[in-house]
Amino acid sequence: MSLDDPRPPAMKWLCLAGLLAFAGAGLVLPFDAALVGVINGAGGGVTDALLSFLHHFMPVVILTAGLMLGGGLWVRGQTPALRRGGLLLAVAPVLANSVTSIIKAAVGRARPQHPEHGIEALRILVEDADRRSFPSGHVTTAAAFVIAMFFALPPFRGRRLFLLLIPLMMWDRIALAVHFPSDTFAGVGVACLVCAGMAWALRRWDARISSAWRPCAAAVSVLAITWAWSGGTRPVDPVTMEAIDGLGLDPSGWRCLFEPFVGPPLEIAWAPGPRAIVAETAPWSVAVLLAAWWLTPRPRRRRVLGLSLGVLIIWGGLFWSGRLPADRFTHDGPGIFFDPHVHGSDPVDGARPFDQMLARKRARGVDVVALTNHDAPPPAPGVLPGLEWSGGRHDDETYLHLLILGGAGAFDAVMKLVVPPLASAGDVAHARGLEAVRVAKQHGAVVIVAHHWRTLAQMTRDGTAHHLPTPVELADAGADGFEVANRHWEADPQGRSEVEAIDALCRDRGLLRVASSDDHGVPAGSPCVTFLPGRFPVDPVARREAVLGRLRERGEAWPVVWMREKRAERPAHVLAGPVFVARYLAALPPLGRLSWLIWFLVAWRWVLRSPRRGSPGPDRPSSPRR
Ligand SMILES: [Zn+2]
Ligand SMILES: [Zn+2]
Repeated sequence: MSLDDPRPPAMKWLCLAGLLAFAGAGLVLPFDAALVGVINGAGGGVTDALLSFLHHFMPVVILTAGLMLGGGLWVRGQTPALRRGGLLLAVAPVLANSVTSIIKAAVGRARPQHPEHGIEALRILVEDADRRSFPSGHVTTAAAFVIAMFFALPPFRGRRLFLLLIPLMMWDRIALAVHFPSDTFAGVGVACLVCAGMAWALRRWDARISSAWRPCAAAVSVLAITWAWSGGTRPVDPVTMEAIDGLGLDPSGWRCLFEPFVGPPLEIAWAPGPRAIVAETAPWSVAVLLAAWWLTPRPRRRRVLGLSLGVLIIWGGLFWSGRLPADRFTHDGPGIFFDPHVHGSDPVDGARPFDQMLARKRARGVDVVALTNHDAPPPAPGVLPGLEWSGGRHDDETYLHLLILGGAGAFDAVMKLVVPPLASAGDVAHARGLEAVRVAKQHGAVVIVAHHWRTLAQMTRDGTAHHLPTPVELADAGADGFEVANRHWEADPQGRSEVEAIDALCRDRGLLRVASSDDHGVPAGSPCVTFLPGRFPVDPVARREAVLGRLRERGEAWPVVWMREKRAERPAHVLAGPVFVARYLAALPPLGRLSWLIWFLVAWRWVLRSPRRGSPGPDRPSSPRR
């Protein structure tokens, strides 16, 4: 098959195959539930790993391969047939995937794992945030890629093996119980029809692209790849990772227009393990910069360098000034957002002036803030008074951190409990931590144990972990609750399991589970906050009292982390950097992506523009304009 000669029969066969696939979907429809049960039941071990790999990586691998291979052929192809084939290969998988999204929304069938189908005893290996099932987007994308490859590439040995990708993907979807068999057949049908339609539409076009438009094509490709990964930011419980309905995040409108300047530093500031992410993305960024340098005509290289430096300065400046316009927390039902752990004007940790931080919290929709400086009584009015007790050890070595909130006299009483250096008097330290909980409780304060998993990890590294009271000991001593998320969501597997153990204890004993910003004022705050559902007084003083009352009675409190879709697992390998970038782009709203595109084109034009008016010929782009 070649597009040089459109060969209607090839397109006819493709249409027929598409209709047959739809007929197949109709035939298996009555057996859908039974087949999912059987195929999902057979698995485990290596099979499950393969299923999960196909689920997470196949679409993006296919789309990237299609765009790079197809895009390369489109731009560099010597004949109209190659160029058209390239365009088809680049666009068909993306287009077919988009078509399935439209059909999914129209049909609205729920996935097999959804309780509405009542299929029991399914093994749930992956949970799809999007509940719509018909047809399968993964299968459509894979099938469109394989079909387009037959159109685009000259025949080569073993190319028929690629056809196996289609049944492989169908099996993956059914075995993971994210699709019914009929969804997968319909996916093949959609792919056939979309490819046939595209081949027909392109049949007479030369598909030549001028060099001036090539960067645009590259930028559109990036957007298209990320589109398939589209998601968004959603509130989840930090331990169960379940989405919390009724809470939301309102983007500030103007921010979308400046997304390339504001988005990346905000993304890093809110990510789990921001330092690791900077380290993982840095080598890739340098590589991209070097490539851009090498590809740019010599007289314009300084502009590429200047542009990169300028963007870096803007990112760094916004990051360190803390002026990143994070989105506003919102909720549907009655309730308030409460941040139980904030440092401000802190002499120990050097947090920024507290009124600035408070204003920022308010702008984000946080109603009540507890000021909890390290071993220092709260100086600021207008907040819930608190302190973060660390036995005076915060400067010297890591030790138990307790949030002491409210309670007249509790602050002075616990600040008298100074912990000696752990190396010389570890047992005293252990006892004093528990004593601090008891003393604070006697004075009517609320005691919440801060970031216990992180403290434990640090003290294990220091070799002093045995001086730290265990969560059970702290609960027995009277602690009201524990943080289950703090500043950044916990991505490290060891830390995750510690958090899960703490969470289980809280649920078991009816203790408070809270998420805190632990904001030290530096970058953009934190995606962690606690939601208190219910009605609270309007008057600020009465409201703070009501919050304290809720905590004292260990009433309902939801820990919340705002998380990008599909960020649940952070890959710890060489591809972590690019995956992080892909997920960031994928989670952007359309306006944000458009903003990237516009700024990219503006920058590109500026780089290519002649440096000086009337400068001699060699500086001008050498390719003739068409
Ligand atoms: Zn702390
Ligand atoms: Zn703190």
